[in-house]
Amino acid sequence: MSAAYQGLPAAPGIGMGAIYLHRGRELELEYSTSTVISLARAPFNPQTEWERFLHAKKLVDQQLMEMGTSLNHVAADIFAMHRLILSDVTLTDSVRIAIHEEGRSAISATRRTILDMAQVFQELDDAYFAGRATDIIDIGRRLLTFLGAPIETGRLSELPPGSILLTEDLTPSEIATLPVAAVAGIALARSTPTAHTSILARSLGFPLVCGLGTAILEESRAQQAIVDGYSGQLILSPSPEQLARYQAQQIRDADRSAEAVRRAHEPAVTLDGLKMPVYINANTTDDVAALGESGADGIGLLRTEYLFQNRNEPPTVDEQCAIYTAFARQTDNRLLTIRALDAGGDKPLEYLTHRDEYNPFLGVRGLRLLLSHPAILADQFRAVLLAAQTLAPEMEVRFMLPMVSTLTEMEQARKLLDQVRADAGTAQTGARVRIGPLIEVPSAALMAQQLAGMADFLSIGTNDLAQYVLASDRTNSRVAGMADALHPSVLQLVERTAHAAKNFYIPVSLCGELGGNAQAAPLLLGLGVSELSVPLPAAPLIKQAIRETDLFHAHQLAESALRCRSAEEVRTLLEG
Ligand code: PEP
Ligand code: MG
Repeated sequence: MSAAYQGLPAAPGIGMGAIYLHRGRELELEYSTSTVISLARAPFNPQTEWERFLHAKKLVDQQLMEMGTSLNHVAADIFAMHRLILSDVTLTDSVRIAIHEEGRSAISATRRTILDMAQVFQELDDAYFAGRATDIIDIGRRLLTFLGAPIETGRLSELPPGSILLTEDLTPSEIATLPVAAVAGIALARSTPTAHTSILARSLGFPLVCGLGTAILEESRAQQAIVDGYSGQLILSPSPEQLARYQAQQIRDADRSAEAVRRAHEPAVTLDGLKMPVYINANTTDDVAALGESGADGIGLLRTEYLFQNRNEPPTVDEQCAIYTAFARQTDNRLLTIRALDAGGDKPLEYLTHRDEYNPFLGVRGLRLLLSHPAILADQFRAVLLAAQTLAPEMEVRFMLPMVSTLTEMEQARKLLDQVRADAGTAQTGARVRIGPLIEVPSAALMAQQLAGMADFLSIGTNDLAQYVLASDRTNSRVAGMADALHPSVLQLVERTAHAAKNFYIPVSLCGELGGNAQAAPLLLGLGVSELSVPLPAAPLIKQAIRETDLFHAHQLAESALRCRSAEEVRTLLEG
């Protein structure tokens, strides 16, 4: 009998195949018996143990560096972050104390430290931090392997071809080293769409559903399964009808991708002649390396948090200017949208954000934080203006303000930025710099008409908008599924915002994850969104989806979606 289990969609695509239930030692760090015996026999010398640890740490660092360059830029970012965790003084200090003061061996000290660090994150009961615990365990396993105590993790390298891998959770290293041809799809009992494992799955093209609950691991009767990475469903023992339906969808998906890639450089024009620019979202310069190949029209969202992280103070104006100029050059004189620092919430910054906030998503984040540190906002805008001066006049640069929630905030920010512009001298010889809010708080969407009157463009951040509209923390796996941007309540605010932009003849882009959903592209067009900004790999498919629609159909779809009662109903409508 077929049975469907609902999890969270974490990487798109359909996977069909035989189930491979992986019962590795999961995220534990249990010793093998031989390690326990050799530990008992080894003579103890703290200095030797300490040197063994330092040596293992150096080898892990080298290995992580190689891992980063061997796969893709997403893996490079993740393993660069692992190198940072490895170099963290807390880790090294606590191993040193455990060896020198508690008399532990290098193996035992490392294991204790890693488990303690992982536990701190796990106890925060927050999906984002639980994902970080997996990263720490991953590093711990590498250290222990070099210390001569390899952790038994099962035999993922022997995964049979075309498998649906069903397991509790995977570390980034495990997913990065899976034999690609063997994986038809992945189903995880734990984890969330924001964990590094999910991010890697998306970059590697593995369909993945997560957060299915551990009871799924007891489902040993099923032989075959379907992973639906669009809806987040795992279907066990599918019926012949289900198999046929998903097979047809797989074929359609493959044909559509091939066509989209072939036509990536053609503009995205609807059947009745409306051009819709499609930009990409970026964090680092690696993200834009393939901008030219993707056929995208520029950068619609550059998250600048990365520039401010892993340091003790903000980057200088000159440092920022050099980086923005480098990004601008990658766009080949097309659009560059720089988002002002969006710290706070799920993006804390050691030297800036408040540690004592009970609910940081509703606290001092985004523009609120910048207005309480106006010098940081002013410097960032100064750097943008300086960069713009070196660019071709036909290029457009946008400066986007995150988490605007009131008109007063927008007025204050505009006043400050206008002053910076005036102080910088108005001889604007380079690219035009435009200013606009990111609409991601319900109050901003409701006041979009007034905000549009003060802005050169609007952009809609559906990730935050959905979590605030539906009161569902996007990083808490228990409710993250509810923060669904396809919910009609969110779509109403998208329409309202788009309408306001239209009244003022200014562009309105959408840069939340929803923009990367090709099925939703006609709907967004129908709701009045004029531009999309999407993850780079999705750009060709989004352009293709726009080419296949017309405005009449798009408006009809939007009207029907706004009348739906739930996100599920909207999804069914889009599939129909
Ligand atoms: C959003 O909230 O939709 C958005 C684009 O910003 P971020 O995901 O960086 O919060
Ligand atoms: Mg946001």
